[in-house]
Amino acid sequence: MTTTQPAAGGRATSAPLMGRESEPTLFELSSPGRISANFRITGVPEWTAEELVPAAHLRDTPTPVAEVSERDLVAHMTRLSHRQFSVDLGAYPLGSCTMKYNPKLCDDAVARSGLADVHPAAPPAMTQGWMALLADLESALCRITGMAAATLQPPAGAAGELTGLLLMRAFHGAAGEDGRRRRVLIPDSAHGTNPASVTLGGYEVTQVPSDDRGCVDLAALADRLDDDVAGIMLTNPNTLGLFEEDIVAIAGAVHEVGGLLYYDGANLNAILGVTRPGDMGFDIVHMNLHKTFAVPHGGGGPGAGPVAVTSRLAPYLPGPRPVATPQGAYEWVEPEHSIGRIHSWHGNALALARAWSYILANGGDGLRRVSDAAVLNANWLRHQLRGTYDIPYDRPCMHEFVASATNLKRTTGLRALDVAKRLLEEGFHAPTTYFPLIVEEALMIEPTETESPQTLAALADALVRIAADSGENGRAAPRTAPVGRVDEARAARQLVPTWDARPADL
Ligand SMILES: *Cc1c(COP(=O)(O)O)cnc(C)c1O
Repeated sequence: MTTTQPAAGGRATSAPLMGRESEPTLFELSSPGRISANFRITGVPEWTAEELVPAAHLRDTPTPVAEVSERDLVAHMTRLSHRQFSVDLGAYPLGSCTMKYNPKLCDDAVARSGLADVHPAAPPAMTQGWMALLADLESALCRITGMAAATLQPPAGAAGELTGLLLMRAFHGAAGEDGRRRRVLIPDSAHGTNPASVTLGGYEVTQVPSDDRGCVDLAALADRLDDDVAGIMLTNPNTLGLFEEDIVAIAGAVHEVGGLLYYDGANLNAILGVTRPGDMGFDIVHMNLHKTFAVPHGGGGPGAGPVAVTSRLAPYLPGPRPVATPQGAYEWVEPEHSIGRIHSWHGNALALARAWSYILANGGDGLRRVSDAAVLNANWLRHQLRGTYDIPYDRPCMHEFVASATNLKRTTGLRALDVAKRLLEEGFHAPTTYFPLIVEEALMIEPTETESPQTLAALADALVRIAADSGENGRAAPRTAPVGRVDEARAARQLVPTWDARPADL
């Protein structure tokens, strides 16, 4: 570690911990020649830029990067982290996103040099352990979902959705039906990524309305089913946190016209060890390992969205996949009619290893307890808020539920957005607001299984207190956060995404 301290340039790093003064950028903290470097000795020969890059593409001025010491960098990052709400700081009931606490054990597991320091291009003879891990994870995910084979490549749920739709196309294409099957059905409560993926996959979206119980309207579904339907995308429990009780009938009707069922597994954390998408009749399943199996996300790290399928879709999976030979060694195998790669190398491998460590640490019984506690916590909280907030679909929910601030809007003028901002003053992250779209002034609450009864009681208490508060307090919130109420419309329309790294005087 080298730290040089030239006399000129660079701002002092002191800044009040939670004040509203803006934190300087790293470029403002920069001082020419100040260094923060700690390179490990790798044994890899060093190359000069001239040896690696054709002369025509080399820049002739140095890259204007910030030059700061490790000390200043750590102070800067720590100050920013203190201004930010995080899962490690407190309850984060952001519905649909599953912001559960991520055990430090999983950090530990993937920090091991045997996992972290392996290059993905290393030959199979040197990476048998990694390949065994990936193959074991694949088979565990298949057992959890009731599927036959999986790809670990997609780096997020949305990427898994696109993968699934491309698998659908390959499957129908092999039957000579890709031209005819143009439509994919999606309920009106669906997550926004579903219709976006359908369009990206080259299909048309047909929306299916929900009935007054918040589930797929079976008669409306029947009206929309024909032999031009490629499939349906569903999450179960759905985005209202309700179990689609008619799922077997839905699966039968879709299969009847030759369509496939795609399971959006973002809510899989509600059913671990209780039921499986494969048993419900689904053909393709994506999992958000960063939601269900505790991988930090939402700015905390890259995700993983493996896709598992039934045996008739397995030949189309992306490749290569790790497969055990009869002798017990692993090799990379390309599925027979593979749709090709979805990601470089083998996906976000360390996120995969993290999820695997979580599955092993919990075991089958532990995973079942995860879902039991997630469902219990959501139902307990729903009961506490009854009578204070509107609960449009007020019946036993799964791991989350949707409340509404419509009643408060009528009485005090308090909207869902105001409730969310006030909650930040109380030390809790806000729930998801204004989603799903079919609920007015929606507050989508997912407490997750990792919060204690005391934390849940404090959260319920805060939500009840906020509702009893005057409208003025709500509209002024958040008064104690480092950033107050921002003009979101202006922020979106006059977006300034870059900081000029080369001011005139540099
Ligand atoms: C989070 C989520 C997705 C998208 O997953 P990403 O990993 O964020 O891409 C899709 N559907 C539902 C219901 C979700 O909650």
